[in-house]
This record gives sequence, C-alpha cells and structure tokens, in this order.
Amino acid sequence: MNPSARATIWDLTSRRLDVLVVGGGATGAGIAREAALRGLAVALVDRYDFAGGTSSRSSRLIHGGLRYLEQRDWKLVSESLRERRILLRIAPHLVRPLAFLFPVFRTDRVSRWKLELGLTAYDLLALRGNVPRHRALSKRAVQDKEPLLKAKGLAGGALYWDAQCDDARLTLATVQSAARSGALVSNYTCVTALDFDSSGVTGAIVEDQLTGAQGTIHARVVVNATGPWTDGIRQFESPSAGRLIAPTRGAHVMVPRARIGHQHAITFLSPIDGRVMFVLPWGDRSYIGTTDTDDATSPDQVTPTEDDILYLLRSVNAIFPEARLGPEDVSLSWAGLRPLLAQGNGQRPSERSREYTIEVGARGLVTVAGGKLTTYRRVAVEAVDRIAERLGNGPVKTDPDTTKSAREPLPGGQSHDIKELFSRGVRRGFPEPVVAHLVGQYGAEAQAVYDLIEEWPELREPLHPNHPAVGAQVVHAVRQEYARRLDDVLFRRLSLAHETSDGGIGATQQAALLMGRELGWDEERRAAEIERYRDLVNAIPRGGRYF
Ligand SMILES: Cc1cc2nc3c(=O)[nH]c(=O)nc-3n(C[C@H](O)[C@H](O)[C@H](O)COP(=O)(O)OP(=O)(O)OC[C@H]3O[C@@H](n4cnc5c(N)ncnc54)[C@H](O)[C@@H]3O)c2cc1C
Repeated sequence: MNPSARATIWDLTSRRLDVLVVGGGATGAGIAREAALRGLAVALVDRYDFAGGTSSRSSRLIHGGLRYLEQRDWKLVSESLRERRILLRIAPHLVRPLAFLFPVFRTDRVSRWKLELGLTAYDLLALRGNVPRHRALSKRAVQDKEPLLKAKGLAGGALYWDAQCDDARLTLATVQSAARSGALVSNYTCVTALDFDSSGVTGAIVEDQLTGAQGTIHARVVVNATGPWTDGIRQFESPSAGRLIAPTRGAHVMVPRARIGHQHAITFLSPIDGRVMFVLPWGDRSYIGTTDTDDATSPDQVTPTEDDILYLLRSVNAIFPEARLGPEDVSLSWAGLRPLLAQGNGQRPSERSREYTIEVGARGLVTVAGGKLTTYRRVAVEAVDRIAERLGNGPVKTDPDTTKSAREPLPGGQSHDIKELFSRGVRRGFPEPVVAHLVGQYGAEAQAVYDLIEEWPELREPLHPNHPAVGAQVVHAVRQEYARRLDDVLFRRLSLAHETSDGGIGATQQAALLMGRELGWDEERRAAEIERYRDLVNAIPRGGRYF
C-alpha cells in the first residue's frame, strides 16, 4: 500500500495482522514503527489526528529532566539523556540542541552549589552527549547574558544544554516511518470495542470518524497506547479493571518573545511555589510552562484554567520584572494530561514518577502507559520485545541503543547537505525566509515541497501575512502527512496556530481552499471547517482578570 495514504476500514479489516496499535501519539507511533521495522504486520489507528492528544501539548523538550535528578531518578535521567543523543542523530531537523540559562536567586530552594552538583551529574549521565557541557556563571555573567532578569537577590547561575523539538511533527515523522516500513496507518479511526474469542483479545471494532464506516480489525496482539485514555480501553477488556493511570494537567501560554526579552531558554524556580519552570523560545514567540495539577476531567475536554494562566504569567513577571505580561499578551494557551502511573498517587503531582509500565491484561490486551515524549522510542523497543514474546518468539531482549530504530533516520533526517538544499531553493527563486522555513521543517524532504511549487507556481503564495509558510505545505500535508481537517494542518503540521498572533485564523481561507481541492470539499464543507477552526481558537482561554 502507498505509505502516504491513510488506510481505509477495508484496508484495515481485510487481512489478519500481527499487531494492532491503538493510539497514534508518540507512544503508539513509536511501537508501530518499531514493530514494522522488525517485519511484523502492523496497523496504527487514532480516533482523532495523530498527535492530537498529549503528544502535541508537551513542553517540546527532549531532555533528561533536571527535576528528576532532584528526585534521584537516575535511571530515568540517564535513559532520557541516551535517548536525547539518539533523537538528535536520527531527527536533526526536528530535535535541536538548545542553550538553557538557569539563574539562582538567594531565596531559591536550590543553591548555586547544588545546581553545580546536579549539572555535573547531568553531564556525566549523558556520557558522550552530542551537546556541550554546562558552565557555572557568576552573578555578573548571568546579567551579561540576560540583562532583563531581576537583579535583586540574584546569586549566579549556570548555562547548560538540552534539546527542543516540535512534538507533533516528531510523532508524525514516526508515523510516516512506520508506514514506509509497511504499517497501515489511519487517523480518525476510533476503537469502539475489543473483539474476543475463547483465547482472548483477537482484534478491535473500529469506526471511521470521517465516513462512519465500521469494521473489525483482526490482530494476534492488540496494544493499548492511548495515553490519558488508557483506562477506558482497559475497561473494554475487563469492565472492572482498576485504575492504571492518574493524569495530571500541564498548561502552557504563548506570548511575544520581545515582551520578555530573554536571549536563552530559561529554567527557573517559580517564586510562587518553587516548582521548576521554563520560558522557551519558539521563533519570535515564547512559551511558558508548565503546571502540574491532578485532573480527573475527560482527556477530550482538557484546557488550561484561568488560574493556570495567571500562575504562569505571574511566575515569569516575578523574574523578568520589565515583562509585565498580562492576559492580553497571550496568543495561545494549551493544556495536556500527563498519563502518569497511578502507583505514585498520594505524592505531589510533580513528584510522581515519569516511569512507564507494560501490562498484559487477563485476556491478553497489552497496555503501554506512562513515560515521557523523550523516551518514546525506548519504551517502544521494550514493548515490541514483549509483543514478539506473545507472538511465540520466546524471550526477546533487544538493545535499544543499537537496534534499527536507533540507527535509521526519521523521514527528513537523512544525512544530507542542508546548505545545498538551501541553495537549491534560493536558486529556484524562492525567498530566503521561505527556504529556511521549509528546510527547517522538512529537513531532507523539503525537496518534495519545492517540487510542488515548481509544478504549481501559485503554491508559493504565503498562507498568512506574518508567517513564511506557503500554500504548497497544505497540499503536502494532505498528500504526504495524512491531514484531513483544517486544525490538522494549522495546529499540528504547520504550527501556524502557535506561531502567529491570531492563532492561525488569517490562514484559514487559503488553507481551506487548498485542502478542499485535494479532498473534494464543496463550499459548504469549506465554510464549516473554517468556522470550526475559528471556534476552536476563540474558545482557547487567555486568562481573565490579572489583578
Ligand atoms: C504539559 C505537558 C508537558 C510535557 N512536556 C514534556 C517534555 O517537555 N518532554 C517530554 O519528554 N515529555 C513531556 N511530556 C510528556 C509527554 O508529552 C507524554 O508522555 C507523551 O506525549 C504521551 O504520549 P502518548 O502517546 O502516550 O499519549 P497521547 O499523545 O495522548 O496519545 C494517545 C492517543 O490515543 C488516542 N486514542 C484515545 N482513545 C482512542 C480510541 N478509542 N481509539 C483510537 N485512538 C484512541 C488519542 O486520540 C491520542 O492521540 C509532557 C506532558 C504534558 C502534559
């Protein structure tokens, strides 16, 4: 089957598979890729868009996690740092090194020497990491690097390196890689029940959310990788199943970077409650995160609260006093649910483990829950070992550092001469900011977008007055990246929602027109998509009264 095509219900139900993976977030996409790379017959389905759940609502960091060091979770930190090295190598266009400045104030619960100790351990655990080592900074050096930081009480700090990624695109690249290795992939395909025979789970009943078509997928192993939705699927296997996860909500706000005026990514302790927080650059904007609050609402409805937004703004205003950020500065906010294991319930949310578990249910459903975006590939390696055992391959123990998924680049991450790709775009007469944007977004696969523009010159027109994205990217998103709804393109393929001050609304007409041409939408359908998108953006909380 063409790997760029979204599998239909017929494709999914007309053969017996080795593995059906339910949930197309990072975890499920990673498992589908790993299984397909090992030659298994796999399908991956998601009820919404790929990465429509937590995997597009993270802090976008591929990191060991300094705060897990504080909890002495050495195993998680060292595995995450190993994974950082691998992801920087296999997806250099999506995962990029980023310099962080961590200022220390005299009243902080972490002193300069404790930070120095922690960062030394961080460097050691990274072994031969492919980012520079940390440097301790005097108060003066911190002020030189970040002149707008609060001077009062500043004791010094440190500069260290981690990595930042586009979480949705990383997940999507993993889905594409799975499909290119033979997996059937289908977004907007919801599992509504499991199918059983006397031996246990034998598949799942699915419904296409776009056409209403239904069918039964037959698979020797069914994997539940539904993040915050995990317990709902477990109850399809056993209605009395207890709770495996206890989600916590994390919120972010996006503001203009110039309003804060920071030069680096900033890690700091919130002056409100001492939690580790980040101010992270994203083009000419910055996002601030995050919160960590128990949340039992449905994952379908999670959204930042007014209190979340005010906490984030106040925390940053306290260390960047000139910023004076208020709700009017917030162009976008988002929240996600961390699918944390319930076993740590009772501890404060931020102290609860980010470890994962692989559970085999009474009737054979394999559930993979917990973990971090950073470790999704590693979790997948172990999960597929367990799946291979269930398929009768005896005990399997694959080395996650050397297996194929650690060596094979994700789409666009193939070693290539970026300079040559860039010059090729400029030689074709595309404006430099557009070429830089395309190469940054697609890596080695930018060529496919160049080709579309050559074929159809009107596709070089910008989609939005304040953004370098061009029409060809919408066509590419539909033809190569499984986009089916307007928010698939504007939120998760092109990040226009995050990178413009109107949440991408200025691009809706043109994007809907181009999607409509590809997908056969009539005028009514186009208007409905635009209205739905506007409603989505307008419903996003930006914070209410500040004082
Ligand atoms: C605020 C926040 C910040 C974070 N920051 C970071 C970070 O910086 N770095 C990091 O490493 N980790 C971070 N994480 C953790 C990381 O984002 C998650 O661990 C990871 O994204 C979870 O991925 P997942 O695939 O398990 O879940 P999800 O991404 O939620 O995927 C589950 C999927 O299952 C689908 N699904 C549900 N029910 C069905 C059904 N019936 N049929 C078919 N499909 C279904 C959903 O639509 C969804 O797409 C953060 C988490 C949060 C909430």
